[in-house]
Amino acid sequence: MALAQRIAKVHERIARATERAGRDPASVTLVAVSKTVDRESVDEAYRHGLRHFGENRVLDAVEKYATPLPEDASLHLIGQLQTNKAKPAAGLFDLVESVDRPSLVGALAKEGMRLGRPIPILLQVNISGEEQKAGCDEAAADMLADSILTEPSLALRGLMTIAPLVADPEHVRPVFRGLRELRDRLQIRHPESRLDILSMGMSNDYPVAIEEGATHVRVGRAVFERN
Ligand SMILES: *Cc1c(COP(=O)(O)O)cnc(C)c1O
Repeated sequence: MALAQRIAKVHERIARATERAGRDPASVTLVAVSKTVDRESVDEAYRHGLRHFGENRVLDAVEKYATPLPEDASLHLIGQLQTNKAKPAAGLFDLVESVDRPSLVGALAKEGMRLGRPIPILLQVNISGEEQKAGCDEAAADMLADSILTEPSLALRGLMTIAPLVADPEHVRPVFRGLRELRDRLQIRHPESRLDILSMGMSNDYPVAIEEGATHVRVGRAVFERN
């Protein structure tokens, strides 16, 4: 299958999932995870209409996007971020999805201050409790969200999670539901904030994530992998 067909297939599965959930297809943003492909493939995907791209390594991305993407494209950081890379990350990415600890909140807030604009971020939560997974514990999410929301140089836009890789995506439905419920609770606690984004779902499970309220799905292999 060629890139155009793979993209069309993903859009079609997004449309069907939103239909099952009674949602507007326009309420779901496809973030094409381009971490395994070169810049040429990203540009090709852009020409095929994709506008949101996800990368997981800051310094590689700085090089890969030395020539910036067009104005209407956006770049998301979806991989673990070390505090000593907060500066290049804040400069390059339109959304940092992987904020999961106080030291990183501090480092990014400092960069926001320096840049004179709030850095858009998501709080990454380890809903499944898998040990090797990044993300803060669900129990720590309230405190971390509170501290982010006191930082004028950070703009908390919502939550992100990575579900465990399982054979049957139905098995991770509770993870997606858990993230949505956590977002709903945080939104009630902080009515002044706009926690609109739920970034959840990858190639093997994004339709289930959409049924549970995902606004952003991070799809890598289904878009870029030849099969
Ligand atoms: C690689 C990656 C994805 C995409 O995974 P696929 O299975 O290729 O769709 C999504 N989110 C994160 C955080 C990733 O690291």
